[in-house]
Amino acid sequence: MPRSRRTFQVFACPSCGSSPIRVIRGTWSGSYQGKRYVVKNLRYFHCPHCGEKVYDPSAMRQIQAASPAFSKAHRARKSA
Ligand SMILES: [Zn+2]
Repeated sequence: MPRSRRTFQVFACPSCGSSPIRVIRGTWSGSYQGKRYVVKNLRYFHCPHCGEKVYDPSAMRQIQAASPAFSKAHRARKSA
């Protein structure tokens, strides 16, 4: 698909429409079936109003790479 390579930007929360949505860079944690996993140095958007989190495609990839749900599907690579 022809898509321009612009930096992914979110100016308003897709959930509540609140406009000053914040960019967060730091350790992100999530859980999958009670297991906690973290992604270090992840950049994502966080709405201070409703708590919604928005991820750009590269953040999504990083989360998927760290997620136990995905590592199951794609057989964990040898740890470096
Ligand atoms: Zn919001």
